[in-house]
Amino acid sequence: HEKVSVIGAGLAGCECALTLADRGVAVQLYEMRPRRSSPAHHTDRLAELVCSNSFKATRRDSAAGLLKEEIRRLGSHLLKCAEQASIPAGGALAVDRQRFSELVEAEIASHRAIEVVRREVCSIPAGPVVIAAGPLCSPALAEAVRDLVGAESLSFFDAAAPIVDASTLDMDVLFEQSRYERAGGDYLNAPLDRRSYEAFITELIGADRVNLRDFERKELFQACQPAEEVARSGRDAIRFGAMKPVGLIDPRTGARPWAVLQLRAENAARSAYNLVGFQTNLTFPEQKRVFRMVPGLGHAEFFRMGVMHRNTFVDAPHVLDSSFAVPETQVRLAGQITGTEGYTEAIASGLLAGLNTFCDLAGAQRVHLPVSGALASLVGYATDPATVRYQPMHVNFGLVPPLPAGVRLGKRDRYRAYARRALESLDAFIAERIDVFAGPR
Ligand code: FAD
Repeated sequence: HEKVSVIGAGLAGCECALTLADRGVAVQLYEMRPRRSSPAHHTDRLAELVCSNSFKATRRDSAAGLLKEEIRRLGSHLLKCAEQASIPAGGALAVDRQRFSELVEAEIASHRAIEVVRREVCSIPAGPVVIAAGPLCSPALAEAVRDLVGAESLSFFDAAAPIVDASTLDMDVLFEQSRYERAGGDYLNAPLDRRSYEAFITELIGADRVNLRDFERKELFQACQPAEEVARSGRDAIRFGAMKPVGLIDPRTGARPWAVLQLRAENAARSAYNLVGFQTNLTFPEQKRVFRMVPGLGHAEFFRMGVMHRNTFVDAPHVLDSSFAVPETQVRLAGQITGTEGYTEAIASGLLAGLNTFCDLAGAQRVHLPVSGALASLVGYATDPATVRYQPMHVNFGLVPPLPAGVRLGKRDRYRAYARRALESLDAFIAERIDVFAGPR
C-alpha cells in the first residue's frame, strides 16, 4: 500500500493512524506541537484533551454510551486507552489526561508502521492524506483546506442553536405555520404575549454565560452575535429579529402574537427541532431554565444545547462525500474539522477515516455502517446534502431513524430499543466485512 499522511496527532489523527497501521498500512503522522501550539493545547503530548477530561456517559441507552459501544466493536484503540486511564466519575468515562496521552503514545510507538513527524504541515501533501488538524487547525493549513473546498465552505466559528426533542413539546400550545401561510408548513411556532416575552427577555439577559477564552472572545463576536447579546442591545431587538411575529396568526386566538419563537425541523421524521436564531453562549443549565419559560417548551428535553466556539470546520454536507473524502482527490477529513463535535466523536471519525482510507487503498468497498447506529446517524447528518445551515453536531438520539410506525415507547425504553437495534445490525455488518475487520492485531 501507499504510505498515508495523517495530519494532526490529536484524537482523530491518532485513532486513524492506529487503524491504518493495524491493517499493514504505513503512516506518517504529523504533529505541529511543540514547535507550534494552538491557543487551547498546553503540552506536547499526542491526543491531548484540550478541556474537560470527560468522554461523557457510558450507559448504552444514551447516545454517547452507544457511540462508545459501537467504536469498541469496531476496534477503537483510543477508547481502550481511555478506559485504562479512567478515574471514577459516576456514569461517565472520565480519564487521567496525562495517563491517557501516555497510553496513546505507547500504542503509537509500538507500531513500526507509524512514523511520528513533529512539524507543521502548511500545504496538503501528495498521495493519500487524512487531515485531522482539529478545530484549531493552524492558519497555514486552514488556508490550504480553504483552497481545496472553496472559501465559502470553511468556517472559523460555530454558532449553534439548541435542538429539542419533538416528543417533549406541548402541541396544545405550539402551532404549525410558515410565515404568511394559513396553516401547516415547516415551522412550529411558540406564541408569546407581552408579559411572557418581557419575562423571557429579562431572564435571557440576566442568565449566566460561559466564560469564553481570550482567543475566542476577541474573534468570536465579530463573527456572530449570540441571542442574549442581541437582546441586551434593546428589549425589543429580538422581537424585530428572530422572534418577529409578522405573517403569523395563532389559530387559537385568531390574532398575531406579541412575539414568536420559531422551531424548524431538523430531520424528515420531524423528531427534532432547532430554536431558530437562538445561537447562544448561556451555560447549559441556564439554557434549559430560560428556554423552558417559552410557552410550549415547558417540558422540552434537549438533544443538543446551543454553543459558540472558535472552530475550524468545513461545510461537510456540500463538499465531502459520505466517507468524508473530498471528491476526486485522495484527501479525506477526520475529527472536528468535519463539523462533528466531541472527544468520542473525534475518535470515531478517525477510526472511520482509517477504515475507509484502507478500503480505498485495497480497492475494497467503503465502510457504510448500518444507518441505525449512533455513529452512522451522525455521519448521515454530516454528509447529507439536504442538511442546511450546517453547524457542528455531536451524537444524539434526535439523529437516529425513528422506530417502526406504531411502536410507541417511553423515552427510556425508546432509547434502549435504539441501542439494541443499532448493536445488532453493527454486529451483523462487522461479521460480513471480514475483509476489513478480520485479523487486526
Ligand atoms: P485535536 O484533538 O485538536 O487534534 C488536532 C491536532 O492537530 C492537534 O494536536 C494540533 O496540534 C494538530 N495540528 C493542527 N494543525 C496542524 C498542522 N498544520 N500540522 C500538524 N499538526 C497540526 N469536546 C469534548 O467532548 N469535551 C470538551 O470538553 C471539549 N472542549 C473543547 C474546548 C476547546 C477550546 C475546543 C476548541 C474544542 C473542545 N471540544 C471538546 C471539541 C472537540 O471534541 C475537541 O476539540 C477534540 O479534541 C477534537 O479532536 P480532533 O482530533 O479533531 O482535534
